[in-house]
Amino acid sequence: MISEKIKILTAGNSAIRAMFEEGNRLAALYGRDKVYDFSLGNPNFPAPDSVRQAMMDELSNEDPVLLHGYMPNVGYEDVRKAVADNLNERFGTGFQANNILMTVGAAGALNVILKTLLNPGDEVLTVSPYFLEYGNYVSNYGGRLIPVPAKADTFMLDCEAVRAAITPKTKGIILNNPNNPTGVVYGEAEIRELAAVLEERQKALGMPIYLISDEPYRELCYDGRTAPFLTKYYANTILGYSWSKSLSLPGERIGYVCVPDACEDHDLVFKAAGIANRILGFVNAPSLQQRAVARCLGDCTCNLDKYDANRRLLYGELTAMGYTCVKPQGAFYLWMKTPGEESAFVEAAKKYHILFVGGSNFNCSGYVRIAYCVSPDTIRGSLPGFSALYKEFQIER
Ligand code: PLP
Repeated sequence: MISEKIKILTAGNSAIRAMFEEGNRLAALYGRDKVYDFSLGNPNFPAPDSVRQAMMDELSNEDPVLLHGYMPNVGYEDVRKAVADNLNERFGTGFQANNILMTVGAAGALNVILKTLLNPGDEVLTVSPYFLEYGNYVSNYGGRLIPVPAKADTFMLDCEAVRAAITPKTKGIILNNPNNPTGVVYGEAEIRELAAVLEERQKALGMPIYLISDEPYRELCYDGRTAPFLTKYYANTILGYSWSKSLSLPGERIGYVCVPDACEDHDLVFKAAGIANRILGFVNAPSLQQRAVARCLGDCTCNLDKYDANRRLLYGELTAMGYTCVKPQGAFYLWMKTPGEESAFVEAAKKYHILFVGGSNFNCSGYVRIAYCVSPDTIRGSLPGFSALYKEFQIER
């Protein structure tokens, strides 16, 4: 018999995945071009040629015994140094290879961080709505995820609510910026305010409170915005990144954890994270992908213009129809208010072959998340359906 814990998870399964499967079902019935699937954050634009070329070069030129062999659990030293150098160049930091640990994507990074930090019963805050896997990741290590609502309507950080949620059991807070599902980007003033709250609380409680930065969308910011680099604002920051979105490589499973020197007990935390990477069964991040991304660190914004064009098209058209949407500032998600009851709206959209995920799946009902990392034709093709759907709900009310 399977474990009681996984039994519950198996029964729940992921609504996002379920919607993705529904998309495949509809595509088999009506043809892929007649289905407008906005359910999954799976980049539709291919990885840049430079990444594919780097992989081919590595395969052609590297010693296969080295390329395909075991390595230190934290990853290749030269790759970690290249990542550190690139961060230093972009953010004026002073990282070295021993601040960087290569991981199996952002999911791997978060699991390594949480395995490293959590004791059973520890609490981890996050801003709600949030990427629902956080609950699973935290409970993997006996922790409890505590959602802290974002500000109503704007979905920006509510630092006073964060302060109120901190208890002696609080080990840290997971912050996702740019944000999935709301598409907001927290700016410098908010990050400073959050850092001040965390500083004050960790001092008052006499224990470290870690800021766990989940940033697979770091480079995807629009209209000249940038997401503040958190290690510059708060010492006890541990950062998890992946190239799943920026280089369109989600299936390749490649990312990193960054533990800055300023983080309390850096050496111990870094060593423990290396062990976590091993004993979670990842052992090390994929070798070929480590080598490839290290050679393409400058290419992470190559699809930004395409996402931006999609963002403008979708936001412009949907708001013109009458929908109320949070204007996306980053990532590739549009967070839209449902004109009627959420599940009825999600169901009704399927009639028009439009698929998106209800806000309840991110702990916030009355909204839907529309992933616009799709081809522009998918957006254009969906517009008549969106328009009819809106009218349908206006008449019903
Ligand atoms: N964190 C957030 C907020 C995400 O949206 C995702 C993926 O969609 C992940 C983490 C996991 O990323 P990865 O595929 O690199 O593991």
